Amino acid sequence: LTSWNFKQEKTVIDLGDGVKIGGDELTVMAGPCSVESREQILKTARIVKAGGAQLLRGGAFKPRTSPYSFQGLGEEGLKYMAEAREETGLKIITELMDIEHIDVIMEYTDVIQIGARNMQNYSLLKAIGKLDKPVMLKRGMSATIKEWLLAAEYVMNEGNHDVILCERGVRTFGEETRNTMDLSSIPLVQQISHLPLIADPSHGTGRWELVTPVARAAAAVGADGIMVEVHPEPQNALSDGHQSLKPANYHLMMDELRAIHSSI
Ligand code: PEP
Ligand code: MN
Repeated sequence: LTSWNFKQEKTVIDLGDGVKIGGDELTVMAGPCSVESREQILKTARIVKAGGAQLLRGGAFKPRTSPYSFQGLGEEGLKYMAEAREETGLKIITELMDIEHIDVIMEYTDVIQIGARNMQNYSLLKAIGKLDKPVMLKRGMSATIKEWLLAAEYVMNEGNHDVILCERGVRTFGEETRNTMDLSSIPLVQQISHLPLIADPSHGTGRWELVTPVARAAAAVGADGIMVEVHPEPQNALSDGHQSLKPANYHLMMDELRAIHSSI
């Protein structure tokens, strides 16, 4: 179902109000790793909107490595995201971690994000395959391209064909970056599959100073969009501050992306 043999036109996901993923535009999804407060998400939403992003990202249910780290605001966070959408017109994307949260996530989000840690959670994939809502499936931390595409097949096989893939780096031996951003997967997957593909240079590198150059590279090799972490004060972020762009650097990144991809 993911392959060009099954479908000969590129999949374009239309979120309404002119926001499309997989079309001619480079779609930018920007926002904090986690929704931390009403003020934080509204402030970030205004910044990312002003820079030209189409979607606001922000986790309300967070998959943290340590159980003692901030776990997200849950439904309260989703309400703040919805308020930010109301004010700015940005569409929203947020992570679904568990089948038990499907109803609450469905009530608020425009796109469901499935994180790297859940890429092979097959019962979750089957459950979202039955929903009428676009899904962005992140590549698993050590997933091969075949495993990633088969995970997308799990979703599509249940009827939901609005699947977006997201390359967010894979784990290798390097210690200098959080993950190794697999840029070659971008053209490779697009040669195999008609699904739109987004690049996440924030998780792909884990270092804010590498985010813009890698975002540029991803746009240059043909990504359909970029997901990027932006925080008004990265030094005070409750998660992933070291890989989040400050507002000024986010604006610079957007300017540089515009030079590569004239449609944004
Ligand atoms: C995220 O987008 O904040 C996230 C947790 O990403 P990943 O699943 O790629 O680690
Ligand atoms: Mn993050």
